[in-house]
Amino acid sequence: MDHDHTAQIACAELLAECLRPPAIVSVSTWADDNRMLSGKASSEPGRWRTDRTPYLRQILDDLSATSEVQEVVLMFAAQLGKSEAGNNWTGYIIDHEPGPMMCVQPTVDMAKRFSRQRIMPMLEDTPALKRKLSDNRSRDDANTMLLKDFRGGVLVISGGNSAAALRSMPVRYLFLDEIDAYPLDVDGEGDPVALAEKRTSTFSRRKILKTSTPTIKDFSRIESAYLQTNRCEYFVPCPHCGEHQVLRWGADTPHGLKWRKHEDGSPDLESVHYICAHCGARIDEHHKTTMLAAGQWRAQQVAVRAGKATGYHLSALYAPLGWVAWPDLVNQWHGATTAAKQGDVTRLKTFTNTVLGETWEERGDSVATSDLARRAEPYPVGVVPFGGLLLTMGVDVQADRLEYRLWAWGRGQESWLIERGIIYGDPAIDEGQTGSPWDDITARLTAPVPHAHGHTMAIRACAIDSGGHHTQQVYAYSRTHQHRNVLPVKGSSSRGKSVLSKPTEIDLTWRGQRVPRGVKLWIIGTDVAKMVLYGRMRLTAPGPGYVHIPAELAKTDEYEQMTAERLVTKYAGGRPRLEWIKPAGRRNEALDCAVYAYAAAIWCGIERYTDAQWRQLERNSQKTAAPVQQPESPPPPQPKQPDFYPQRRRQQQTRPIW
Ligand SMILES: [Zn+2]
Repeated sequence: MDHDHTAQIACAELLAECLRPPAIVSVSTWADDNRMLSGKASSEPGRWRTDRTPYLRQILDDLSATSEVQEVVLMFAAQLGKSEAGNNWTGYIIDHEPGPMMCVQPTVDMAKRFSRQRIMPMLEDTPALKRKLSDNRSRDDANTMLLKDFRGGVLVISGGNSAAALRSMPVRYLFLDEIDAYPLDVDGEGDPVALAEKRTSTFSRRKILKTSTPTIKDFSRIESAYLQTNRCEYFVPCPHCGEHQVLRWGADTPHGLKWRKHEDGSPDLESVHYICAHCGARIDEHHKTTMLAAGQWRAQQVAVRAGKATGYHLSALYAPLGWVAWPDLVNQWHGATTAAKQGDVTRLKTFTNTVLGETWEERGDSVATSDLARRAEPYPVGVVPFGGLLLTMGVDVQADRLEYRLWAWGRGQESWLIERGIIYGDPAIDEGQTGSPWDDITARLTAPVPHAHGHTMAIRACAIDSGGHHTQQVYAYSRTHQHRNVLPVKGSSSRGKSVLSKPTEIDLTWRGQRVPRGVKLWIIGTDVAKMVLYGRMRLTAPGPGYVHIPAELAKTDEYEQMTAERLVTKYAGGRPRLEWIKPAGRRNEALDCAVYAYAAAIWCGIERYTDAQWRQLERNSQKTAAPVQQPESPPPPQPKQPDFYPQRRRQQQTRPIW
C-alpha cells in the first residue's frame, strides 16, 4: 500500500469517528468494557470490575460527561481504590471525551513515578487507549513521561511542588491526587490547589477530582473541600434486619466493630465481628460483599454548590474482601493505642487518617484556650503585681493598626501579662503627623506604669516587628527612639535558632559601612520562643517560668490569640519537621507580641541576671510606700479601665477593641 493510500484510509477512519454520535457511556461502563489492570500496578490484574468496589460506581458516574457535577471530592482511607477511580476517569477522557487534562501528584518525583507505574501500564494494557496514542509513534517527542499527547487532547502530569508546571496551560479536566500531601505554599505563589484550579476557569464544562486520605484537623485540604460538598456516607444494609447504616469503629460505642480481648489485653483476632446499630445482631466479615453491593451513598447535607460538588467519605472498614481485613485493622488499632498509652501518638494518628479516613486533632505542642483561661488571676490590668521587676513591651505591626502587649518579668523569668493595646491607624503615617498610631506607642512607652507596691516603673525595652508591614517605618521609629531601647526585630523560622541572635546592621553609609550608633535589626528564633512560651503556659504552679494572665482579659479574645498556634509534624521531601501552624482566620497578635516582649527581656539580659542583680531590682521595687494592693485580696472594683488610647484615637476606631 502506498503512502497516500494509507493516509486516505486513516482520514476516512478519522472522519467516520468524528461523524459517529458518541455513545452515551459512563466512566464505570467504560472501565468495565475497556480497562485492563496491569500486573505491574495491581494486585488483582486483569479486567476492571466496578462490582469489586461497588462504592466507586456513583463516583465514576459523577465523573462522566453526562453528569452535571463539576467537582468530586474523595476523603478516603488508604487503599480503597480512590486513585484507580482517577485513573479510570483519565482513560475515559483519553478514549471518550478528549480534552486537555492535568493530573497532579504531591511532588514532581511522585508525578514521574505515577506516570511510570500507573499511567504508562494503563495505556499499554488497555487496547482502547493504546490505539488513541498510537498516532504519535512517529513523533515521540510529543510523549514524554509527564506529557501524553492523544487524539483531541493532552494529559499533563505534574507535581504540587512546581508552580511552573501548575500554571502551564488551561485544562478542562483536573485530577488532584493526595492533596493533603501538597506543600502549603508552592514557590511563593500560594496554595498549589488554588493555582491548579485557576487553570480550569476558562472551561464552563470543567470537572475536578480531588482525592486524599485526610491529615490534620483544620489543616486538611480534603476535609475542608469535603465539608463544602453534600458529604455522602456509604450506608450498607444489615444482613439480619435489613436496616442501612454507616460502618463505624466500635471501640467507644455499643455497636460497630467489636472483639474480645485476651488476658494480656491483646485482641482475640478470631472474635472480630460487627454489631448492627439497629438490631444488635452479629455481622461477620463474609457478609460484607453482599452488603457493599446493596450499599448506597446518602448525602448528609445540602452542598454549598448544590448539584455541582459531591463529596464521599469512606473508611477502611469497607475494604472489599481479600483486601485489608477487619482483624488486621483491630491489630493496627491495638498497636497504635498501646503506643499512645506510652506517649507516642504517631501510630494512632496514622490509624485515624489511613484507616478511619478522618482528620487527626493535633494535641502535640499546644495549649488549650480553656486551660489558659483556668489559670487567669484577679490582678488588675495595667498594674505590675508583686514579683514583677522588669517591664518590656512587644509591638506587632499590622496593615491598619499597631498592637502592643506589656509584660513584667521576675525571678526565674516568671512573667505577667500587664496590658493589651490595639491602636488603629495607618502605620505608614509618620510620628507627629495627624492620625499616626506611632504617637500612642510613644505615649505608652514614656508613661510610667504603676506597681502594686505603690511606686511606678519604666518600660525597659520594646521590640517592634519589622518583618511584616511597614519595615522602613519601623526602622525609622526605632532610630528616633533608640535611647529608649526600641529594637526592630524580625522573626526567623530557621530550626533551632535561639530566641535572640546577633543583630545585623541596617544603617549603612553609601559605601556600605555601618553608621556609628545606627539601628540594628535583631533576629528572633520564633519557633524556639513559641516552644518556650507554650511550655511555660503549661506549668501548673507559680514559680520560675510561670506565666500569669489577668482574668480581666477573659472578655477579650486574648486567651484564644495566645493559644492560636500548634506545633505539628510536617513532611518535607519525606523528612519530618516541626512547624508552628495557625488555623486559617484565627488571630495570633497576642502570641506574636508575647514573643517580641520575651525577646526584649532577653535583650535586657534577663537570662544572665545574677542573684545580686535580682536583689537590687527587688530593693528598688520595695523602696516606696505601702502597697496599694494585695494580690490575695478579692479584686476591687476597677474605677476605670486603664486608658490605653488618647481620646482622639478612640473616635477613629472602626472596630471595637474588646
Ligand atoms: Zn441489623
